[in-house]
Amino acid sequence: SCLIELRSWEVHQRTLNGSQFYTYQVCNVEEREQDNWLRTTFIQRHPSASRVFVELKFIVRDCNSFGEGTLTCKETFNLFTSESDADVGTTFRKGQFRKVATIAPDEITKRNEMHLNTETRYVENLSRKGFYLAFQDIGACVAIFSVRVFYKTCPATVKSLAVFPETVARGGEKQVLREVSGTCVENAESEEQPRIYCTLDGEWVVPVGQCQCKPGFEEAEDSCRECQPGFFKADASSSKCEPCPDNTQRLNPGASFCPCMAGFYRAHTDPITGPCSGLPSAPKDLEATSNHLPAGKLLLSWNPPEYTGGRDDITYSVLCQRCESFECKPCGEKIRYDPASMGLTVTRVSVSELDAHFNYTFTVEAHSGVSVLFSTFDKNPQTIASMRLVERDSTSLSLSWDVSPRQLVQSPSVHYELAYRKKDNKLDVTTYVVLKLERSSVKISDLAPGTAYLVKVQAFSSDGSSGGSSVEEQFETLSDVILTSAVGGAIMLLLVIVILVLCRRRSNSHARQGPEDAYFSNPEQLKPLKTYVDPHTYEDPNIAVLKFATEIHPSHITKQKVIGAGEFGEVYRGILKGPGRKEVAVAIKTLKPGYTEKQRQDFLSEASIMGQFTHQNIIRLEGVVTKFKHAMIVTEYMENGALDRYLRDHDGEFTSYQLLGMLRGIAAGMKYLSEMSYVHRDLAARNILVNTTLECKVSDFGLSRVLEDEPEGTYTTSGGKIPIRWTAPEAIAYRKFTSASDVWSFGIVMWEVMAFGERPYWDMSNHEVMKAINEAFRLPAPMDCPSAVYQLMLQCWLQDRSKRPRFGDIVSLLDKLLRSPDSLKTIADFDPRVSIRLPSTSGSDGSPFRSVSEWLESIKMNQYVENFTLAGVISMDQVLQMKTEDIRKIGVRLPGHLKRIAYSILGLKDQTSTLSVFAV
Ligand code: AMP
Repeated sequence: SCLIELRSWEVHQRTLNGSQFYTYQVCNVEEREQDNWLRTTFIQRHPSASRVFVELKFIVRDCNSFGEGTLTCKETFNLFTSESDADVGTTFRKGQFRKVATIAPDEITKRNEMHLNTETRYVENLSRKGFYLAFQDIGACVAIFSVRVFYKTCPATVKSLAVFPETVARGGEKQVLREVSGTCVENAESEEQPRIYCTLDGEWVVPVGQCQCKPGFEEAEDSCRECQPGFFKADASSSKCEPCPDNTQRLNPGASFCPCMAGFYRAHTDPITGPCSGLPSAPKDLEATSNHLPAGKLLLSWNPPEYTGGRDDITYSVLCQRCESFECKPCGEKIRYDPASMGLTVTRVSVSELDAHFNYTFTVEAHSGVSVLFSTFDKNPQTIASMRLVERDSTSLSLSWDVSPRQLVQSPSVHYELAYRKKDNKLDVTTYVVLKLERSSVKISDLAPGTAYLVKVQAFSSDGSSGGSSVEEQFETLSDVILTSAVGGAIMLLLVIVILVLCRRRSNSHARQGPEDAYFSNPEQLKPLKTYVDPHTYEDPNIAVLKFATEIHPSHITKQKVIGAGEFGEVYRGILKGPGRKEVAVAIKTLKPGYTEKQRQDFLSEASIMGQFTHQNIIRLEGVVTKFKHAMIVTEYMENGALDRYLRDHDGEFTSYQLLGMLRGIAAGMKYLSEMSYVHRDLAARNILVNTTLECKVSDFGLSRVLEDEPEGTYTTSGGKIPIRWTAPEAIAYRKFTSASDVWSFGIVMWEVMAFGERPYWDMSNHEVMKAINEAFRLPAPMDCPSAVYQLMLQCWLQDRSKRPRFGDIVSLLDKLLRSPDSLKTIADFDPRVSIRLPSTSGSDGSPFRSVSEWLESIKMNQYVENFTLAGVISMDQVLQMKTEDIRKIGVRLPGHLKRIAYSILGLKDQTSTLSVFAV
């Protein structure tokens, strides 16, 4: 009833497989110029559904079945659509409809057998309130059984403790993913807003911004539950609640830490998550001897206390008293102790300068890290002591404190009042914010960044009587932005601020520098000698070039041969001969004629960036030509060209040790870049250059290329281009490019190098790669890869970027491995079926290989085709019979090649290979 016939279509009743159906049909096969329309009633559109699917069930009669003389007979019909904001009733204007598709049957209906066809098409870019569908017949014999109109949604879901609502899948031409924000489940929190992408097919992919259960809560099936009594969890993390440590109180559920039991303490330096300790008992077996010693000298010795209070920081002190006729006094300054009288870690001390004929009394005390606290409480039982900082960020301070054990014994249900104020509020030193608390810890939120606060806390017993206040202590929130260390005084600071301000203003997507979130927030690591300056921060980019690059006169440059095609023009090999200087081999990048000013500036920006770096493993800029018509960039010449190609051309020819040496160089270059706060964004073997001594240098610093020219680049929803297989998930998902995302890419480069230039993830599509990564799959170990090296790759590919190693760590680890080559002997598990992957088990279309050469080609070993032919191995059946020894005999000598071929044959024998072996 939802279709309106407009001409010639009729309603019929039909029987199909024993059931009755109403159909709309038309069958004017013998008349010329048919134009019969059937239109749906108005279909309301869901406001978010811009793409709807139309599923048709229909039959079409075979024209031949009408006999001769039906030349006008057709076997297809057309699907049209027209958008509208209102229902126009039965008015029909053909001109308003646009064609969506020609519908042809998969199986045609012959005279006696009816074939029901199902076809699904979609209508895209819908934007108005609703639409009509229409079917145009131009002379076929058609019956439509049903029309189903639907759109797809990604179902409501909970992923990584974040709730995502049901979302209509939609997209335009470039937009295949829809970003959806989620919210953390109750009692979970996350640093970044959790996000996920909804694909056009209604599937969720790539969740980012993991939510984690708050302190005091742990994950339990997509939710966070309180820690059981007797357990605690101190931070927002994915770890489980842990049992309260020794000598702590097992209090209520949901504890973020366990306070000390009466009589036990944590020293200032003890972690809040660790056990509490009691005072040590007295030292044992104290002995004094003066035998064989000069007069006035004595040796004291003792044994450690029976009970150390659970600590290993025990020290001893010796007290001396001189007694005369029942009256004792301190011995005074005259007496000498060796090695000392206090803070002793040994259990003996020699005492000298004693006077003869006097009675001395020596007392030896054992102390530990908590003794100080005990004496504080001892003197003033009401004091609150050891208020300490548990955690802080830019807007909050988490504090905890201990209360006197005596107070706890007298009144176990103490509560606290904590008062705080900004330290520098000179106008108002009397107004505090007061918080009433049940526990001896608190997280104070909504504070100002980089600000000092004064905090004091007071305990109250259940009867309301107040204990003493703690002394007022000062704590400071973290700054939003941690500036570089105070190397250069005010001018330096001013410069940095100006740069930051400029960067903010230009915060378009390719601002490549800036304080790198938590990754760099450790002040220890914030000591770059120099910070990279984005040439875009210069009003006139030509000035940046002049500042960072030397101008070369074109007459000093000789071009010899084209060696590559750059983004802006040819790259030549050539010679640079400056006045009074030796000739050097150089690479010359040129700018092709007909460029715009913007292109010239983008071209030269690479020099402005490169010119700021001086490092063995960063390609060195010799200079630029800017003052002449043909602009050029001149860099050191790297004889072996790009690393990916070079390794492919020398497949299997290097040992792991040599490959690791190359990686060590790349890592050192990247460490230098990260210390300068430069984020590369496009680290890949194709952007590493190699010279004759196999030294590897990082190159490719163009500003525009990440956005426009990257050959591996894939357009993202927001317009930029991203080389998906090299890029960290957070950078793909929300452009969080940091040194940590460069570390991810470095992991991929490690894999490329260890696999001799193999393409990461082989022939998987970008979408499959993203999906696999999202489902925690990672690349498997390349053939012959040392286990320690593969472990490092996996570390670089940790989802949580703060857990990935830093470039400094990577360099140290690689150095360590290189110093002890034995550590490379353990080889990571290698599965030939996965690692030479599916292309080796069958042809690209999934069918078995038709010839030996097709197979060799698929594993990139076609240089051996002749060896196989000459040896008479001409069919795949023969190949399957070959043993490693046979392969060697026909002339495959390089161990890498031998293994690759042998493994591939293994893989061919076992067709069961699946990608699932890839899981980590
Ligand atoms: P690029 O525009 O930097 O990607 O350079 C294009 C190609 O030119 C590279 O893939 C290399 O093959 C080659 N090339 C660029 N710079 C050098 C260099 N310094 N030494 C040798 N070859 C280079």
